Amino acid sequence: MPAGRIRLTPQGHEVVTKTHTTTNAAHVAGEATLDRISWIKLSSVTLPLATPISDAKVLTGRQKPMTEVAFLFVELETEQGHEGIGFSYSKRAGGPGQFAHAREIADNLLGEDPSDIGKIWTKLAWSGASVGRSGLATQAIAAYDVALWDLKAKRAGLPLAKLLGAHRDSVRCYNTSGGFLHTPTEQVLDNASASLASGIGGIKIKVGNPDRKQDLRRLTTVREHIGDGAPLMVDANQQWDRPTAQRMGRAMEEFDLVWIEEPLDAYDAQGHAALAASLDTPIATGEMLASVAEHYELIRHNAADIIQPDAPRIGGITQFLKLAALAEHHNLQLAPHFAMEIHLHLAAAYPIEPWVEHFDWLEPLFNERLTISDGRMHVPSRPGLGITLTDQARAWTQATHEAGKRH
Ligand SMILES: [Mg+2]
Repeated sequence: MPAGRIRLTPQGHEVVTKTHTTTNAAHVAGEATLDRISWIKLSSVTLPLATPISDAKVLTGRQKPMTEVAFLFVELETEQGHEGIGFSYSKRAGGPGQFAHAREIADNLLGEDPSDIGKIWTKLAWSGASVGRSGLATQAIAAYDVALWDLKAKRAGLPLAKLLGAHRDSVRCYNTSGGFLHTPTEQVLDNASASLASGIGGIKIKVGNPDRKQDLRRLTTVREHIGDGAPLMVDANQQWDRPTAQRMGRAMEEFDLVWIEEPLDAYDAQGHAALAASLDTPIATGEMLASVAEHYELIRHNAADIIQPDAPRIGGITQFLKLAALAEHHNLQLAPHFAMEIHLHLAAAYPIEPWVEHFDWLEPLFNERLTISDGRMHVPSRPGLGITLTDQARAWTQATHEAGKRH
């Protein structure tokens, strides 16, 4: 007979009620609500890139080649000694602004129960309400939000994907970092071979060259090189107008692409919808959008077959989960943008088989490596996100701010 209490039902039958015998304080009902956030550290970290990076936005003259990525790291500690780490980021301008906003609102977290992530998100949003519910201010909140989810999963002793409710232990992955427009075609081919040999499942290359024939020549070469069976995607980084996107979309149908990404301006929901309706190749977009509300405009216009949210850009994991529910309701596929260290967990928890984007750029920041095999990236067994900052990341720190007291 199991350990427990015997009680009588109203009909007089004896039933045994199991008693919980765990001695783990974190699992005792009510105990978690006694914990409070007691220390916060913000770090502004600049990650230098080995080579200046160019996508179509550079070739059309709208941006300069990218030489670094700015990260906003949040480290949290609670009175009971639980810890969390999260991050947001900015490419080109915006990093110092994210850090400044996060510093300004930091004190709002002190004394809050770290489990009350929804309440904290709302409190932080109201604390900076006059600067809006999207964009830079929301991305500062995202770093806190990710750290709170990491803390919650660590306290539960679970990888974040498991805390959220995973559908799978690994996610299909494709490489992006090897196929930028500054990279000569021969090198793109070598990078693709190396990615596939390492177990990565698909290859994405950048397009949107003002010389459209050059895009098609390069795509032909890559497709021949990797073979018809290898998943292949292209990304125009918003640099086509509607007629060009239509023409290029038709020309690319023969390549059997998994998707065409950002063919049009990120906010042109109707243009994307017309394209998605007219092409067989799926349309993917959403990485540039800065809130769930902006994504909802895409969804309600049927603008994409595959939605590509970026958790740090839309306000963190709390907002990502709201968007994931909307996307699932509309039967959309999911391929989150960048930050695979976060998005692997979120994609694992999405019901419809997703993709996760492999970038090797962030590797110098973290001590851990994600395991990749048979075309898939595996959810780490470590609790939380499963990341810790390297000494090199500490050395690249430009500014820090602390609030509260460390135990
Ligand atoms: Mg992209």
